[in-house]
Parts: sequence; C-alpha cells; structure tokens
Amino acid sequence: ETKQENVTIDDNNNGTHNLDDGDVINLDHGDPMMFYPYWKNIDNECSVTIKASDMISYLANPKEPDFIYQMPEFIDAVRRMHRVVGNAVTDGRYIIGGTGSSQLFIAAIRALAFTVKESNTCNNKHIPVVCAEPYYSFYKEAMEQERSELYKWQGDANTFKEESGPYIEVVTSPNNPDGRSRKPVVNREEGLLIYDLAYYWPHYIPITSPADYDVMLFTLSKTTGHAGTRIGWAVVKDQEIAKKMKKQILLMSIGSCHEGQLRATKLFHFVADRYEHDAYYEHEKPPMKPNLFDVEGLFDYGHRTLAQRWEKLRAAVQHTGTINLPNFSPGFCNFFGKLTHPTPAFAWLECKTGEDAEILTQKTKDPSKEWLTVWFRCLRKIY
Ligand code: PMP
Repeated sequence: ETKQENVTIDDNNNGTHNLDDGDVINLDHGDPMMFYPYWKNIDNECSVTIKASDMISYLANPKEPDFIYQMPEFIDAVRRMHRVVGNAVTDGRYIIGGTGSSQLFIAAIRALAFTVKESNTCNNKHIPVVCAEPYYSFYKEAMEQERSELYKWQGDANTFKEESGPYIEVVTSPNNPDGRSRKPVVNREEGLLIYDLAYYWPHYIPITSPADYDVMLFTLSKTTGHAGTRIGWAVVKDQEIAKKMKKQILLMSIGSCHEGQLRATKLFHFVADRYEHDAYYEHEKPPMKPNLFDVEGLFDYGHRTLAQRWEKLRAAVQHTGTINLPNFSPGFCNFFGKLTHPTPAFAWLECKTGEDAEILTQKTKDPSKEWLTVWFRCLRKIY
C-alpha cells in the first residue's frame, strides 16, 4: 500500500468490523514499497536509459577474467555509499556483486565450506550452519534445499552444542524478524561468520561504527528499496574467499544483470550526491547540483516514514491490548549526527496470552477473536 492517508488508529466499532472480502494484509513477507512515494517524487531525475544495442556482451569488465560480469562503476558506487553512510569499511576489501544478497548468501556459505574442506579440519562430516533464533526463514530453507554433502543447516545457534570443529554462524544485524542488533553467540575459534547487514542502514538503526567483518552482505532491496532490481553485494576481507565467491556467482548465473548494476549505480550516486551536497553546502563550497537541495535525503525519508509507522503500530498495540511489541533503546547515529531510535523494517509480535501469533494471525475470521479483527483493521490503517 503506497497511498498516504491521514488516519487515526482509533477504532470506534468495538471490534465488530469485519475486513472486506479481498482485503489482504500479507504478514508472510516484507516488500519495500514504503520507498515508492520517495522514488515516485524523484522519478525522471534518476532514470536510466538503456538502448537496444547496450550491454549485449557477457563482459562488463574484460580486464578482470575472474570477474567479467562486474561493472567497475557499480563497485565504485558501492564504495561511495558506504563511505558517505559510514556503515562499512570497504577500503582494501573485495566487493562482489550478486543477484540479490540471497544469491550471495549461498555463494558465501559454499566459499566458506570449501575453505574449511581444503584445510582438512572437518573430518568429512557436515559443517554445521547455525543462526540464533528467531532468524530469517530463507536461511533454513535455502540450506535444506542445497542438500549439500559439505554443510548442513543446524538451526538455532543458542542451542548449538558441538564443542569442537568448524561451523558457520550467520549473524543478521539488525535482525530480521525482531529488529535487534546482534553479535555471534557460539564464539568458538573455529567459527566462520557471515554477517547479513541488509538492514544496517540509517533508516533502520543508528549507525554507530563502520562494520568491518570478514564476510558482510548488503542488498539494494533494503538500501534504496529496489528489490525487483535483484542487486546485492558482499564485502569480503580475504582474497581466497572472495575468489571462491566470485566463482560461485559465475557458476550460478554468469554474474548479475548489467542493467541492474547500472540502475543501482545511478540510484547510489543520487542518494550520495544528496548527502555530499549537504556537506559541501556546510563548508560553503559551491553546491554540486542545486536541484538536489530541495529533495529530502533517502535515509531521512526512510527513518521518518518508519518512525511514523512505529508510532501508529504502538498505538494500535495499546488499543488492542493483546500484543507485545519489542522496545528499542536509542543510540547515537554517526550518520545523522544525533541520537536516533531504531525503527526496524519488521515488527516482532508476541501474544500476551502466550498463543502462537503466527497461527492466530491466519485466523482473522475466528469470531472468538474479535480483538484480532480490530488489530488487523488498525494495521490496515497504518500502511
Ligand atoms: N537478508 C535479510 C536479512 C533479508 O530480510 C532479506 C530480504 N527479506 C534478504 C537478505 C534478501 O535480500 P535480496 O532481495 O537482496 O535477495
């Protein structure tokens, strides 16, 4: 839902309102359409023209034989975004593009597992892959579908008992679905870590320092919201791991879509120009692009929009009284230069009755659960 409505959460019909037929609130997965009004307003300022003769070749960068698909301008734009935002160290790091960070996740797992295998430390048994609960459901499904002989999904990192041997832990921070900042929980020397930092951007959480981990994953889907463009990137410290990941991307899809890389490049420069324009202006240098002065920065828009939604969501929760939402402490955001509250893209709902909220939210028509109808009606108004 993209229209802005001036609504209040107050529901005066005591829970007797039924949702209209066909009125669907999809709580199964997220879709970053909250960015639509922002980009609709920008539209032609940030369009990419692709001629019929453009980008026919497999090669985007013939100079790098193991990296032919990657446009150098895309890598430069990624580095610029991280520099402007200050959320990740990219100097001296390898940047590897992929078809969304979902593909890079699989490439990273394989690259790490191959590395362990080559080092002969895994005694021919499966390398466990773990993540603290609650975790992003994709990891489990993707790992189980792989049916790999090398690695195996082993679920919750909190209950992972093996006291020796290599393992891979996925650290999602801030986390999908509960929005919490995370650190690894197993903490053994033989652990290899993948940091999924899809939401480590100022619209979702205060940026406290540049992340500097061995393998970090990011995605356009959560940065600018262009999920359909299917562009993600990994920031990797080790040359051998980077090489293995590139190899996997080449094998899976001979790289990622050049048009997508071009579009991401354009979007990144647009976002970065807006903030660097501010910096130039502060130092009384001539503004880079005067027309950018009036445009709200993407991260300001994202944080403001999410903050408004959280406010309404908290009002709705108070109104129905049956659901708990997590509370988040504010932190100093280096990017905004002030204290900000985390405003996660997801809301982790907990039923005060102890019932399974996932099952309950599938039963809006259950007459014994009138509060659910009220709750859904409130949600409907938020978006
Ligand atoms: N990581 C996390 C934590 C996510 O929530 C998502 C999207 N729901 C992804 C990765 C996938 O991103 P992409 O669209 O780049 O595949």
